[in-house]
Amino acid sequence: MPSLSHDALTALTALRRQFHAIPEMGFEEVKTSDLICRTLDDMGVPYVRGIGGTGIVATLRKGTSTRSIGLRADIDALPIREATNLPYRSTHEGRMHACGHDGHTTMLLGAIRALLGTDFDGTVQFIFQPAEEHGKGAIAMMQDGLFDRFPMDAVYGLHNMPWLDAGKIALNPGPIMGAEDNFVIRIRGQGGHAAMPHRTRDPMTIAASVVCELQTIVARNVDPLQGAVVSCTEFLTDGAVNVIPTEVTIKGDTRSFLPEVSQLIEERMHRIAKGLCDAHGAELEFTYDRVFPSTVNSPAEAALAATAAASALGAGNVAADTPPMMASEDFGAMLRARPGCYAFIGNRGADGRGGIMLHNAGYDFNDAIIPDGVAYWVSLVEKALPA
Ligand SMILES: [Zn+2]
Ligand SMILES: [Zn+2]
Repeated sequence: MPSLSHDALTALTALRRQFHAIPEMGFEEVKTSDLICRTLDDMGVPYVRGIGGTGIVATLRKGTSTRSIGLRADIDALPIREATNLPYRSTHEGRMHACGHDGHTTMLLGAIRALLGTDFDGTVQFIFQPAEEHGKGAIAMMQDGLFDRFPMDAVYGLHNMPWLDAGKIALNPGPIMGAEDNFVIRIRGQGGHAAMPHRTRDPMTIAASVVCELQTIVARNVDPLQGAVVSCTEFLTDGAVNVIPTEVTIKGDTRSFLPEVSQLIEERMHRIAKGLCDAHGAELEFTYDRVFPSTVNSPAEAALAATAAASALGAGNVAADTPPMMASEDFGAMLRARPGCYAFIGNRGADGRGGIMLHNAGYDFNDAIIPDGVAYWVSLVEKALPA
């Protein structure tokens, strides 16, 4: 396994910090794309820009095989005001690389450089994906012909984890990240004087029942061995302290791993809300949106990824059956179109660096794991496309 030279690591660390200083939100990654393209130009690697907005695909071909894989890094940042004193902290007010996508981008560029000097047989498509945080970038690239224009047999993703020790990789051969759906339940009754409830149709009591009844979906309808969450997160009325409202709006968020569970939640939610509204003579408006699909690894590709990780980092540093997480990731959309594997890479150094939670204003990607990520990508290409 080629390890990064001291000079290469120094250059990649400097590059990562350049990305960190210019965080940009989804579909606004112009400076970020410019820097990726300049780096690809320096390496003489061909690429296509503007796929799904600000996305880029770079391509390396070796040998004669028609086999092909895709490696994906996300490139966008978050609407967070950075609260670190790092010398390379964000220069964009209210924007921050608080999820480590600056590190993911750098590790993928590092892998390209390493693969220029490595033998493999086939094609590697390097996907620099915009707009992961609001879940629209993967779909945008796919709608722009990602898999038709850049054929791939399988696709792989990697995300740093602050609660996983540096030097480790964790993955599993099935659902690894949850689906996120959002819902809005609008209940319209008839408002009126708080002292004369009998002359109103109070949507408040109905809505309160709906909030409680929705908890029976997970408790009584979903198979206990299949994870799901139903959370009501907002309760809005047009009432006042002495006014029974006419309308109550309940908003919330659900999580699940399997499409059939998401379907079940939507159906039960609609039936419960409709039933309670009918019972009390109120009108219901119901919307249910699927924001992120679940991220489900395919067994063969997960096994290949585990082998590649073991060869890069040592067998004792790979958890090949890690428990899934309910957070969401838009790479799940790519895994609906192609088999593949999404893996976590440890970000927490023994010195405590890289241990701050993702999406926290004090977070920073740990540059010391750049060689781990590069070694994993290179090993994956060598295993998937052996020379
Ligand atoms: Zn994030
Ligand atoms: Zn992220």
